Amino acid sequence: MDFEFTEEQKMLQKTIADFVDKEIVPVAAQWDEEEKFPYDVWQKMADMGMCGVSIPKEYGGGGEGEIACDIVTEEISRGAGGLGTAYLVSCGIAAEAIYAHASKEQCSLYIPRINKGDIAFFAVTEASGGSDVAGMEARYKREGDYFILNGAKTLITNGEESQFGTVYANNEEYLRANPDPSKIYHGISSFLVEKGTPGFSLGKKERKMGQHCNSTYEFIFQDCKIPVKNLIGEEGQGFRYLIESIDASRCSVAAQAVGIARAAFAVALDYAKQRKAFGKLLAEHQAIQWMLADMSTAIDAARLLLYYAAWLKDNRKPYFREAAEAKLFAAESAHMVCDKALQIHGGYGYMEDYSIARYYRDQRITEIYEGTSEMQRWTIARQLTGLK
Ligand SMILES: Cc1cc2nc3c(=O)[nH]c(=O)nc-3n(C[C@H](O)[C@H](O)[C@H](O)COP(=O)(O)OP(=O)(O)OC[C@H]3O[C@@H](n4cnc5c(N)ncnc54)[C@H](O)[C@@H]3O)c2cc1C
Repeated sequence: MDFEFTEEQKMLQKTIADFVDKEIVPVAAQWDEEEKFPYDVWQKMADMGMCGVSIPKEYGGGGEGEIACDIVTEEISRGAGGLGTAYLVSCGIAAEAIYAHASKEQCSLYIPRINKGDIAFFAVTEASGGSDVAGMEARYKREGDYFILNGAKTLITNGEESQFGTVYANNEEYLRANPDPSKIYHGISSFLVEKGTPGFSLGKKERKMGQHCNSTYEFIFQDCKIPVKNLIGEEGQGFRYLIESIDASRCSVAAQAVGIARAAFAVALDYAKQRKAFGKLLAEHQAIQWMLADMSTAIDAARLLLYYAAWLKDNRKPYFREAAEAKLFAAESAHMVCDKALQIHGGYGYMEDYSIARYYRDQRITEIYEGTSEMQRWTIARQLTGLK
């Protein structure tokens, strides 16, 4: 049993950590306040090879796998949770949704763009419900050399910043012929869609609790004309593809949660060693020591679950349950850690002048997107029981 990263992984971690300390940590609060996406920093990340770190070598990536991707996600998220989300969507789930199922020709066209700094989206969720993915209401039909797509997607990350991505919709002719609700997902297909495609427009920009430095948008498709060559894989397999992509990307959300929790813990530990109450340091009060001990334990346990699941994935072993456990535990631990870190700061923790308020706001979404904690528990229980 080996609990160490390889020498390459240690070097990657140090390089990214130094980059984050220099380029992200000093300005993250400003990006948050101004709701500004840092295009310049993103381009530097791409130039350093960060955007393609886990992308297969045949498409110009580093081919370094899930552990490397999670090391980068964890460090970026330690600096700015919102940038971590932009990263794990574009370079994680959106990239994987393409290279896992698209043709070689499609991959060669789109994946190198992600490596070079283009930003991708992954558009599944609809206003009618995000957890019940098969119930999506977006519809498509074939007309000659095009698929005509109608519907809307909500809460889409990288809404403004992105250039292209994957969109999922159900086939209206298939649904007419197969009204049985238990079969609806066999009609779902997956498409590569470019910004600027006729009939595709941005709708409402969401105002969020946190993660302000990246945008979340509604996407509207009104008789949107998608060339037939932009179908990913086989028609009717889109549901399987998207579930596989969500399963595959759980580790990266766990990595993001660990990164934010580490940032919150570091400032809380610092504060506890400086602030005095009743004539002694906060860190000398046992109640505060116990909080710090619980926070540190949760972070270490979440990291072990995360990198174990990532190791399983990299070694082509079954990892869906372990990844769901890592995402569930890391997200809920980040919530607990940020909450206690805020408590240790007392009233100042509630003030936006201290970074702890931002960490608290930023971590909350890790319990919701890419499968809520309830969906993770369901996934884990299904794997344990073998029941559907
Ligand atoms: C900032 C942000 C970024 C996002 N980015 C993207 C993106 O890039 N692409 C994308 O496609 N989506 C994105 N989402 C959407 C996100 O994936 C969904 O919000 C999430 O899947 C939950 O869907 P919902 O919000 O519709 O909640 P619902 O599905 O309506 O669920 C509401 C509540 O009910 C619970 N629930 C639902 N069904 C069950 C059940 N069977 N048993 C027990 N509990 C249940 C849920 O766990 C949740 O607590 C983003 C969301 C946010 C907030």
